[in-house]
Amino acid sequence: MTRVHELDPETVDRIAAGEVVTRPAAVVTELVENSLDAGSESITIAVERGGLDRIRVADDGHGMTEADALLAVERHTTSKIDGIDDVGRVRTLGFRGEALPSIAEAARLDLTTKAVADGARGTRVVVENGEKRSEPAGRDVGTTVEVTDLFARTPARRKSLAGPKTEFSRISALCTRYALLRPDVRFRLSHDDRETFATPGTGDPTDALLGVYDRQVAGASTTVEWSAPDDGSADREVSVSGVVCYPSVTRARPTHVHTAVNSRAVENGDLRQAVVAGYGDLLAGGRYPVAAIDVSVPPERVDANVHPAKERVAFVDGEAVTAAVESAVRDALSGEDLARTADLAFDLDSSLTPVEGDSTLAEVTVIGTFRDLYLLCEADDDLLVIDQHAAHERVNFERLRAAVGDEVESAAIDPPETLRLSADESATLEANRDLLASLGYRVADFGGTTYRVEAVPAPLGRVEPTAALRDALDALAVGETPEDAREDLLRDLACHPSLKAGDALSVADATRLVNRLGACEQPYACPHGRPTVLSLDEATLATAFERGNTRLG
Ligand code: ADP
Ligand code: MG
Repeated sequence: MTRVHELDPETVDRIAAGEVVTRPAAVVTELVENSLDAGSESITIAVERGGLDRIRVADDGHGMTEADALLAVERHTTSKIDGIDDVGRVRTLGFRGEALPSIAEAARLDLTTKAVADGARGTRVVVENGEKRSEPAGRDVGTTVEVTDLFARTPARRKSLAGPKTEFSRISALCTRYALLRPDVRFRLSHDDRETFATPGTGDPTDALLGVYDRQVAGASTTVEWSAPDDGSADREVSVSGVVCYPSVTRARPTHVHTAVNSRAVENGDLRQAVVAGYGDLLAGGRYPVAAIDVSVPPERVDANVHPAKERVAFVDGEAVTAAVESAVRDALSGEDLARTADLAFDLDSSLTPVEGDSTLAEVTVIGTFRDLYLLCEADDDLLVIDQHAAHERVNFERLRAAVGDEVESAAIDPPETLRLSADESATLEANRDLLASLGYRVADFGGTTYRVEAVPAPLGRVEPTAALRDALDALAVGETPEDAREDLLRDLACHPSLKAGDALSVADATRLVNRLGACEQPYACPHGRPTVLSLDEATLATAFERGNTRLG
């Protein structure tokens, strides 16, 4: 690694970019890219109020010495290129030396870092109102950058930003893209102290998908490792890697097609289109896949300079690149048995997208119900559809979990019920007697594999049917941990008293339910993992009704 140094004026002239720091997501982009350039294995991004209040990115990369850290916040200083001749072959995400000074100009920058070369000593550099100061600071090798008071000195710029929710969704999209693109790096993103996603950094794209999405998405995916065949039919300089989901998993918008070029996350409509084209007619009309694709091309064939914030790229020979992407996706999917999954692509999965993360339920107005099952609500620019049964289950589950201590209460059954178990069930029971007791079951031997069930779990006075003992045994048989078995039990219990489809709710009751849901720790999924809230934003409606740019009134 070379040291941080100032670029010569000629180089600066040639690479000068436009405005780098336009919004919180741009700050996050620059910081995350710096962390990746520093060879980090773990990157933790913590954001407050959509980044308007605070952005903190911490990494375990190579860090900086005191001298480098002091230079790095100055204009046109970088460790990544020496001069203009290097620009065509840069492999790092950054090279202009403009990010840290631009951020420091737009906000308060507080950087703490330590390089191995600096022994035990770390450095903290704070830039505030154009003043720079530094002091020794303790830290493991790596770098933490904290950005506060963004655009405090440029109120017009600050006003031009969207609300915290929208700004955060941009940040989240960006971090998602990098997390999927770099499954070898552990990413953790939190918003207002709530973890939004975390990936394990195992290097397996499926694990990253699981961290970012869910089991359903990760379970229906296949990895892509494509390089051009030797027969001259394709461009040998282009290769493609990543992960694609089967057509059983689709979305109503193309935003889940994540693209990257030479490991830089970029927005590129042509690449996205090429991914979609690779699915051929496996996708239903108007549906888009979930995929993350990284195209490798020699750096000299990419012009990263077309966009100051580097979000977009231009290719020297774009057609060869998109053709490669299309082939890569088609090849990855053709190995899979898709005939069966293809027709599932039509299910109502999401022109309504499940809501995740950030609580939006505080400012929700219930505007009606549909089929006595779905609550229709207005929230900012979104129309929310809440499954009242799933919502009620979530509320019940969290109340139950809070109400029962480590031991689940029992209710005696009088007279005790006898229950004949299979050999397997009986073996499981014998192996888990203590656990079952802590779950609230009291079971006595009755000879052979027959038992007397004397007491069953009864949190909050609600009696669990004896047959549920079988379910508990099933769960234990498939190797669930005691904690999981306990959670399972609570989930089942939460389900029984929950509202079923067809229970009519008054608007007042519905509002209460939504408020209670909003107070839950994990409001956006029922205890069984199904979504509780779907959202449809106004923009989608506007597009669907072809209101587009023209105001039809
Ligand atoms: P660039 O990334 O274009 O070089 P920046 O202003 O983003 O410019 O960063 C300036 C320099 O500071 C980098 O070249 C790098 O040497 C150093 N640096 C910035 N962030 C980190 C980090 N997270 N870990 C280690 N070094 C960093
Ligand atoms: Mg940089």
